[in-house]
Amino acid sequence: MARGRFAPTPSGDLHLGNLRTALVAWLFARGSGSEFVLRVEDLDPDTTTTGFAVRQLQQLRAIGIDWDGEVVHQSQRRPRHQAALAELERRDLVYPCYCTRREIRQAVRAPHSRPGYPGTCRNLDTAARRRLESEGRRPALRLRSTGLEIRFEDELAGSVGAPVDDVVVRRNDGIVAYNLAVVVDDADQGVEMVVRGDDLIAATPAQIVLAGALAITPPRYAHVPLALGPGGARLAKRDGAVTLSDLAAGGYDPAAVRALLAWSLGLSERGEPVTMDDLIDRFDPAAIPRDPWTVEADILAPSEPTASDG
Ligand code: GLU
Repeated sequence: MARGRFAPTPSGDLHLGNLRTALVAWLFARGSGSEFVLRVEDLDPDTTTTGFAVRQLQQLRAIGIDWDGEVVHQSQRRPRHQAALAELERRDLVYPCYCTRREIRQAVRAPHSRPGYPGTCRNLDTAARRRLESEGRRPALRLRSTGLEIRFEDELAGSVGAPVDDVVVRRNDGIVAYNLAVVVDDADQGVEMVVRGDDLIAATPAQIVLAGALAITPPRYAHVPLALGPGGARLAKRDGAVTLSDLAAGGYDPAAVRALLAWSLGLSERGEPVTMDDLIDRFDPAAIPRDPWTVEADILAPSEPTASDG
């Protein structure tokens, strides 16, 4: 048993790839009789909206995903995030960084620069910090990383390792960064198993380091290969009917979308109607496809309207 979760960012409607990852996360939890919780990752007021948060929850429910307890909104958790930042500061594990994106880009282009953050602000003394602040610069906070490789066992991707960069833990506009918030919030929600898209696999070593710094036991991880559009790039709106409402226009009701996702996961025949209970019975983590799901053009092209539509 391992309590699972899904943690979407409400910056748009969920598309087939997001719904598929959510379904896998739900199946990992429910398939082992575990609790499943939800968190709306609405930290950034510039890119997320309450409207999308509400719609995303409706979209999850429509395909049959349920959850335990109240939905947690990350934006309501600032005091916990601040406490974590204070703990990292107290332990001298973070430092202020005044670099602009452009300065970092330029430094990274220099010969012999190391990958990731070039370390410009790592060892500034107080006078240098004061000078930069007097220029009106507001610092981000970065993790003082050892740069060592962190390796973990992913339940889908196998052994994964990468050196940890000096990741930003608080942006220079004061907003706590995803990498820190996710660690604190998963711990506070009692999450034991993180199932998410494999675009986040590279962020995981830094999250494991942050967990360690905050005396948090990291969860287990399973990173699900992404859905790709017919052209081979990550599935996106430009590919056609990718959201539930687009797909409904093409004749796929939510049950048909569930069937499509189940088929993409090797859990049913194409077009076979399935219930969530069927999927729990059939779910086997070992059988989840290890390659991305390429969504073919015939799925994304809405069908021709029939005579009765007009
Ligand atoms: N909120 C992130 C996203 O929608 C996922 C974060 C996570 O699952 O750790 O991409």
